[in-house]
Amino acid sequence: MKQKLSTQLSLGFALIVLITIAVISLAATLLINRQFEKYIENQQRDFSDELARGLTDQYDSITGTWNLDYIHGFGMYALNDGYIIKLYDKNNQTVWDAQNHDMTLCHQIMNDISLRMEEQMPELDGDFVSIHYELKRSDSLIGYADISYYSPYYFDENDFHFVQSLNKILLVIGISATFGAVIAGILLARRIADPITRATDIVHDISEGNYEIQFESKVKTKELHELIQSVNHMASSLKEQEILRKRLTSDVAHELRTPITNVSSYLEAIMEGIWEPTSERLQSCYYELERISDIVSDLEKLRQIESENLKLNKKPVDLLQLTKEVCASFEAKFDQKHLTCLVEGKSSIMSGDRKRLYQVFYNLISNAAKYSSEGGKILIQIEDSPTNSIWTIEDHGIGIAQNDLQLIFERFYRTDRSRNRKTGGAGIGLTIAKAIVLSHGGTIDVESQEGCGSKFTVVFPKYL
Ligand code: ADP
Repeated sequence: MKQKLSTQLSLGFALIVLITIAVISLAATLLINRQFEKYIENQQRDFSDELARGLTDQYDSITGTWNLDYIHGFGMYALNDGYIIKLYDKNNQTVWDAQNHDMTLCHQIMNDISLRMEEQMPELDGDFVSIHYELKRSDSLIGYADISYYSPYYFDENDFHFVQSLNKILLVIGISATFGAVIAGILLARRIADPITRATDIVHDISEGNYEIQFESKVKTKELHELIQSVNHMASSLKEQEILRKRLTSDVAHELRTPITNVSSYLEAIMEGIWEPTSERLQSCYYELERISDIVSDLEKLRQIESENLKLNKKPVDLLQLTKEVCASFEAKFDQKHLTCLVEGKSSIMSGDRKRLYQVFYNLISNAAKYSSEGGKILIQIEDSPTNSIWTIEDHGIGIAQNDLQLIFERFYRTDRSRNRKTGGAGIGLTIAKAIVLSHGGTIDVESQEGCGSKFTVVFPKYL
């Protein structure tokens, strides 16, 4: 079974956080406890030294005697704290011994400490050890002291209480940090997973043809933002493609319907004997069929050019020479309409696909011829600059209305005037020309005035 991304991320975050907190807590607990033990150990050692110094102070050097009353109080006070003192004079004769003084209390205190430590910290494996001190005053020996206490250290009730409280605090911090981190992890996981889940749903909707959908989100993560933008872009470009596809189908149907209806009605009339199959009528049928075949071949060319893998076979092409070649193929047409076509300029060599460039010039010259009036003039100019080849064609034909100017490059778009003139085009020529120009990295523009003529300018970068 597949797991949700948010679950996986939450579990992953939770695991990382748990491991981190466990390691930190454990290390902190061990470190703090160890530091505290070290501190107590030093404290006890210092206290033992302090006791030895205190005993030294109770020696009267003048009389050579010890202040036994004070030492007794001092020793009993130390005993209650777990320190067992034995004091000897310099001849090793016992001056005061806690055990001799109150054996029962001594054993009771030693047992209490040993039992408590063994019970609470069995791993410590401690025992009572005795430190031997030489007591000196002004560098002369005045006696000896043996001070015993539970080593390496021992905890009294307060110390145990402190350590337990500390461990409890660390545990509470650890548990609250874990909870906090798990919640933060879940929220973070949601922040990442939610837009992805939403993107998945939207892509699913798009795959079912719902292109209207747009992904509204204010994510701050760069990659997620890009994902959202890509999804939105995909939806809008699929929508555009869908509109184009629908328009193309209806346009093709529309463009083919007229010639097909014409041919079938001519043939029907001839078959039913209403019309004589005269050569003019057959000629009309032939023209209509030619028109259908032109539309189909234009569509084929357009498909080829618009297909993603339009591969250009680039070679140096002289635009002046190519233009002259194209013009030569129009000679009959120019004669028919008594048109004059002038080619001006010098040779301009660019890197391009000769066959495709031929097609561009063919379509533009063909339009100029088609939309020029009888006896009109067509002027083609070629300019050469170090970086660009500029090709223009100007006619004095029917011109194009301002609001049609941007639309004439759309497939199947024909202005009303050109439709009325029955020039025979399908409105694909300029679409093909523009696609080829763009694939060469160039631009194509038009200036025109209705009734006065049109000027098309094509600019190609010489080397791309
Ligand atoms: P068509 O095969 O109809 O000529 P094009 O794509 O070549 O298709 O041109 C689209 C439309 O642009 C034409 O139908 C016409 O209305 C307009 N057009 C193109 N070239 C010219 C021109 N030189 N003069 C006037 N109108 C033009």
